[in-house]
Amino acid sequence: MSRFLNDRLSALAPYTPGEQPQDKKYIKLNTNESPFPPSPKVIEALSEREAKSLRLYSDPDLKRLVGAIAESYDVSQDMVFCSNGSDEVLSFAFLAWGSDGAAFADITYGFYPVFCDLYGIDAKIIPLNGDFTVNADDYMGLDRLIVIANPNAPTGLLMGLSDIAAIAENNPDNIIIVDEAYIDFGGESALSLIEDYDNIVVVRTFSKSRQLAGARLGFAIASPELIADLNRIKFSFNPYNVNRLTAVAGEYAIKDEDYFEHTKRLIISNRRVLTDGLEELGFSVLQSFANFVFAKTDKMSGEDYYLALKEKGILVRHFNKDRIKDYVRITVGDKGEVKKLLAATEEILKEALA
Ligand SMILES: *Cc1c(COP(=O)(O)O)cnc(C)c1O
Repeated sequence: MSRFLNDRLSALAPYTPGEQPQDKKYIKLNTNESPFPPSPKVIEALSEREAKSLRLYSDPDLKRLVGAIAESYDVSQDMVFCSNGSDEVLSFAFLAWGSDGAAFADITYGFYPVFCDLYGIDAKIIPLNGDFTVNADDYMGLDRLIVIANPNAPTGLLMGLSDIAAIAENNPDNIIIVDEAYIDFGGESALSLIEDYDNIVVVRTFSKSRQLAGARLGFAIASPELIADLNRIKFSFNPYNVNRLTAVAGEYAIKDEDYFEHTKRLIISNRRVLTDGLEELGFSVLQSFANFVFAKTDKMSGEDYYLALKEKGILVRHFNKDRIKDYVRITVGDKGEVKKLLAATEEILKEALA
């Protein structure tokens, strides 16, 4: 870093994304991508004609994409905001509504504290219960932006909608962001609360359940006034934040409901196989509502298990952080990947005991 960088950015610790190794071929179960390709309809839509249209800027209003999302979730178009990954939606949200500070759990998505550092927002860190559940009572009357990942990452645990409604009710002058990156894998969405609570913003992504992590597409659904706030930032920052190919991919992905349902069901059923398999091998596995499981064994440390899997060509995520050091987070892959993960784990445990 240079001596010219401003003090706040010099002090900031940027987010560390999961490894994306380009050298060797791993079974990649470390960043919660889908093991399946995008919908065939998406691939068909990304035609040569579409590639040629790249000479033109994308539609700054993203009308077709926004229209398709609005239709799919049965909301009006002025309640949808699209962005370059949900990371960008979250970034804009912290900037828009975080000036009185932000509050979030000690164990949650690692980008939230980075946004606070980036924008100079005071962060109030609220510890999860001993079993990693959220105590909703800790979130009443906080007088600041509240950010809840539901299901939470990296635990996979789900919070009930009545708790989210109570938090919104008890913080009427502050925004509650519900980051639903993983909601499609079995949770109940806070979308149903948006009509009753004008301070809830639901944030979603195409990265996990719609096979488009590399396209970078996320969105928010909220009241038209809140969506206008996000658009103010986008149009002060980069009006073309979603590129043409991604806008087309997103439109066709959201329209292909059969493929979405089919791939989602496969992930949920593979999650069962993965969870059962790990438990048979003596692991404790948190009850996951996401496309990953959070698991630990008392036979070895989380880091050793992570390294042993890497040695065998399987990447998972280990967080070197208090309270969760013993755990690894394993993305639910396809059937073959789950089988290989379980076989490798069995071998590793045998080698450890030998
Ligand atoms: C993956 C993830 C995101 C970011 O998703 P992108 O749309 O790929 O930027 C946001 N929040 C949580 C909790 C996530 O796990």
